[in-house]
Amino acid sequence: MSSNIKVSRICQHCGQEFEAKTTVTKYCSLVCARRAYKAALRNNKIETSNREVQAVKSIAHEQLKGKEFLTVRDAAILLNSSRQTIYTLINEGKINASNIKLKKTLIKRTEIDKLFLPTTTVPIVPDIQKELKVEACYHMAEIQEKFGISEKALFDLIKRNNIPKLKMGKFAFVPKSRIDTLLKAKNE
Ligand SMILES: [Zn+2]
Repeated sequence: MSSNIKVSRICQHCGQEFEAKTTVTKYCSLVCARRAYKAALRNNKIETSNREVQAVKSIAHEQLKGKEFLTVRDAAILLNSSRQTIYTLINEGKINASNIKLKKTLIKRTEIDKLFLPTTTVPIVPDIQKELKVEACYHMAEIQEKFGISEKALFDLIKRNNIPKLKMGKFAFVPKSRIDTLLKAKNE
């Protein structure tokens, strides 16, 4: 493909336009060619390393599947999240855990599976009595106005998420905390 015709090319390393001798020249200079080669090597190493980490992780994953009791670290691996996330889930009451001794928290495996059940079958953990105080609740019309949601959509939402209701005469109230979480997330 070599010729005396000047071919205009873009260097695949530095992005500069250059005059090449052939239509397949990739780099403007030896320097760029070397740098590109080194970068490719580096990327290769990173990929290999990532693959190794992935392999170790999946082995750990398999081993954890058979365990009945998990440490916070185990749970984090299973859920592919940080330990902090697991502690947050514990604090929010989404995962039940036992402190069998100081700094030793154990989680039953089934607690992790429970996270993936449809919400209707998961018992509502937070203190419903506290949530259902009228001052901690919205009136239905209030929600419709605040979040611009139709009556039907609101009732569906309440039903779908199994939100507890407080009934006073013909008025129904629902906990602000639940509605805020659900509707704010939606609006963001
Ligand atoms: Zn270059």
